[in-house]
Amino acid sequence: RSHVERYRDRTETSRRHHETALEYLPGGNTREALHYSPYPAYLEDGDGAVVTDVDGNEYLDFLNNYTSLIHGHAPTGIVEAATDAVRRGSAPGGPTTDEIELARHLVDRAPALELIRFTNSGTEATMNAIRAARAYTGNDIVAKFEGAYHGTHDDAQVSIHPPAHLSGPADDPTSVPDSAGVPDSKREEVLSLPFNDADATVEKLERHRDELACVLLAPYMGSAVVPPEPDFLETLADWTDRTDVPLIFDEVISLRVAYGGAHATLDVEPDLITYGKIVGGGFPVGAFGGREELLDPYDPRGGASVVHSGTFNANPVTASAGLAALEAFDEAAVERLDGLADTLASASRDVIADRGLSIQFNRAGSLFTLYLSPDPVRTYRDKPHRKALERRLFHELQSEGVRLAPKLMGCLSTPMDEAEVDQFVAALDTALGRLAP
Ligand code: PLP
Repeated sequence: RSHVERYRDRTETSRRHHETALEYLPGGNTREALHYSPYPAYLEDGDGAVVTDVDGNEYLDFLNNYTSLIHGHAPTGIVEAATDAVRRGSAPGGPTTDEIELARHLVDRAPALELIRFTNSGTEATMNAIRAARAYTGNDIVAKFEGAYHGTHDDAQVSIHPPAHLSGPADDPTSVPDSAGVPDSKREEVLSLPFNDADATVEKLERHRDELACVLLAPYMGSAVVPPEPDFLETLADWTDRTDVPLIFDEVISLRVAYGGAHATLDVEPDLITYGKIVGGGFPVGAFGGREELLDPYDPRGGASVVHSGTFNANPVTASAGLAALEAFDEAAVERLDGLADTLASASRDVIADRGLSIQFNRAGSLFTLYLSPDPVRTYRDKPHRKALERRLFHELQSEGVRLAPKLMGCLSTPMDEAEVDQFVAALDTALGRLAP
């Protein structure tokens, strides 16, 4: 039986929920990344490293809500912190000490962070960091890297998945809006840069030097886990330093790769940093911050010159849960998870090699992605276009009880140990065996 038939056999209740959802939500969906064909499994319960769907199938969860759960599902300390905050009133409508405590923790943790403001999503975080940079420079043009995801606002939704025939030369990519409804002006207002090509990047930045508001970079290319090459980062940071164009590090995902985040381990001092995901302890969150000089214009005493507000910003439930999550993800926990991820990566590479397959297993800290490509993936353009095979491997892994993103991206969480790593590697071996012709 095909992988889809086997999936249908064990997810009848999910199928029925999906039918109902179709009546009220376009395609039954609110979050595009959660849809997969023929319909997604509806989840009922999460406990540590395991999620259970409505048909009672259990999965070892390597998705962790797209990397946002560092301690897996319903960890006791976080449940207690959040419950306590709910009891105190989930939205008191005034500043709380929870906000101060989370801000203090992050500023102490991240070397380049001097001041911070909270939002409700990573999308809002990058949107507001760009505004801070535009206010600082008086310029409008945002430079970002081809293939990089920074959320879904208009300046971010450019050249994330540009089709090859529209995307121009590799060393001078054309800016392509990724969604209907993104203003056409974004073709000029957002520059697309070639990741890991320092010379071409600097050349393009030089051409637009006097119009640039910022350079926006996800150091591990977001969920793609494409690592930055050392010369590339150094050259880029030297250039932004010299020209005083703010460098924004999007650490929405990458805070989990090192205690102080990617900029700490890569030894770069960005001017602005954006956060999300693990910072909310499993609740909706975002944040942006950086050098005092760029954040001072938000000071409301005497009138802020840059506007930023939000009814649920720095919500105490999120802030308490976030603080509990980050405090428990201390240097020792980061190191342990890094070691575990290293074991998982090398055992996975062994299984791939033993089966004589050409698949790349990229890893950064506890994040990883499998690329169905014989060659190393250094840039967006190196990514393989093998969606059907990707989806098949995704389904085969799910049928072996391992949950990843449909694009084969995943991450570890702290409740995991050697047993979960062994289970992953065994599932990968079986799933790869089924792919063989
Ligand atoms: N930036 C990066 C690097 C991300 O990976 C994401 C989400 O995956 C975002 C920004 C957007 O965050 P959110 O989904 O919370 O809006």
